[in-house]
Amino acid sequence: MVIQDDNSDELLLYSLELYQRAVERVARDFRQRGAGVKPLEVQLDDLDAIELFYERPGWTGAATLGSLPVVHSVEQAVVALADLLQEKEIEAGDNTWPGCRGGHSHPPAAALLDGDAWWRCPSDSVGFSLIDGHRHHKVDP
Ligand SMILES: [Zn+2]
Repeated sequence: MVIQDDNSDELLLYSLELYQRAVERVARDFRQRGAGVKPLEVQLDDLDAIELFYERPGWTGAATLGSLPVVHSVEQAVVALADLLQEKEIEAGDNTWPGCRGGHSHPPAAALLDGDAWWRCPSDSVGFSLIDGHRHHKVDP
């Protein structure tokens, strides 16, 4: 049992709100990049942890991913959601999803760069596409 003061309750509820705002954006980004995994919603569980529900092809219902960390901006929430869900997409067999820059054979990583959520190459650390559901932001060389 975790004892929480008012301040941490507030932080938790604020995080939940940020995640709720981030879910739609991440869902759009994933859909546009051809992911099978689709985030549905975030909720507080009985132990006041933030849980993410999602579905993927062949699943009739939603599965719960692990609880999410406290965040302080929508961008941080987007990175946390994208990171968790990318893992599920890769586990489903799409080994390099959503594809790195220049035909690299590894998947990119979700990362916060200058306060924005990006897909970033793990090899050269270049952020090449914003995680915002708008592909026109892609700046691949
Ligand atoms: Zn790369």
